[in-house]
Parts: sequence; C-alpha cells; structure tokens
Amino acid sequence: MSKNSTWCSRVSDDVNCPKCNEKKVVKNGRTKNYKQQYYCKMCCHRFIESYTNQAYKLNTNKKIIQLTKEGLGIRSTARILNISTTTLLKRIVSIASSITKPIISKGKTYEVDELCTYIRHKKNYIWLVYALEKNSKKVVSFNVGKRTNKTLNRVLETLKLSDAKKIFTDRLKNYRYLIEEKLHSVKRFGTNHIERKNLTLRTHLKRLNRRTICFSKSLVVFTAVLKIYFWT
Ligand SMILES: [Zn+2]
Repeated sequence: MSKNSTWCSRVSDDVNCPKCNEKKVVKNGRTKNYKQQYYCKMCCHRFIESYTNQAYKLNTNKKIIQLTKEGLGIRSTARILNISTTTLLKRIVSIASSITKPIISKGKTYEVDELCTYIRHKKNYIWLVYALEKNSKKVVSFNVGKRTNKTLNRVLETLKLSDAKKIFTDRLKNYRYLIEEKLHSVKRFGTNHIERKNLTLRTHLKRLNRRTICFSKSLVVFTAVLKIYFWT
C-alpha cells in the first residue's frame, strides 16, 4: 500500500508499534488474508498483530545473526526459527550485503592464514584466506576462491594498501612470491598466548565452514556467512 493512500485516522489505544514502541498507530486496511494492518505514524512501519509468516517478524534477522555466529548450520537455524531454508539463505545473503568491511588502520602487524576446504564435492577444493590484526585479533580481510595466488593476493593487497608493518604467514611457498621480503616473516606465533587465540578461531572456522558448505553448496552463501561471523 502506498504512503498516500487513505487510512482510518483513529489512533489505536492498545497497539504499540513493535519497531519504535510509540502509540501513534493507526489502522491501515487489511492484508490479502483479511488481517488488520497497522501503520505507525512515528516511524512509518507497517505491521499486523500476529504473523503467520515467521520470516516477517522483526527480530528474525537478529536471531539469524546470532545463530549463525554460534556456528549453527542452515537447516538447524531454519528449524529453530520456523522459516524455510530458502528464505533463510536469501536472508543471510541480504544481511551480509548490508555489512561493510572494517576500516583498516595503517602500520599494523598481521597474520595471514589459509584454510583448505571444498564446496559441493570433495574434489572441488577452495581456499579461505584471512588476515588477523595481531593486536586486536580481529579479522580485517578475507577471501574465498580457488587455490591460486590470485585468491591469496586479494587479501594481501588490502594489507599492503594499509601500509602493513609486518605480515606473518605459514611456510606456504606462494607467499614468498607475493610478499616483499622485508615485510614477510614465517616465524609464526611469538607467544603461546597468540597461538591459543588462533587455535580457537581456526577450530571455530573449520566447524563453521564445514557446516555451511554442506548445506549451502555455494560460494555466495559461504562468503555471506563468513561476513556475518567476522563483522557483526
Ligand atoms: Zn513506529
């Protein structure tokens, strides 16, 4: 219904807007299924009192983010939220598209690591490459793709652009060609403390990518899930 359509101007006594919790709610006609629709004059939110379609509930997206971060798979998340897997996949992709990359501050030290995994079947190998800022342990950049230098380089380029002070990697040969010698170090974990942090992340990532890949079968969804996991 368009904003200009006429609506009954009687302000409801007992309905609060679920979005802004204001009382300036007016009736706004009926839905296709003859449910009373309401309109909030404060925040322009349209809603009905009880949703049959669970996906339209306001906090559904919040719950999707929460469950995804816990490492739950697509099917279990859909089951818990009582929505279809198709809707869930669409939602995950749309949530992820609104997440912006973190701004990388200059002159920091990073750790770059790659995880090998597969999509669809076991012969279809891909890499998940990610960069951790050493102090904050935050993932500042990641990329998913074929096991080529190009996939590695996407992540390395963003680090170079932010004037990385030092980049730590494992002994994978590819890095030697991609990173300047004075920036590069293969001596990985200085202390046990950092090693421990990395382990937690890697364990979690492995579980995450195993589960999502089983069900999503696509790079788009996998990338979206990672975006939610890292940056929300
Ligand atoms: Zn409102």
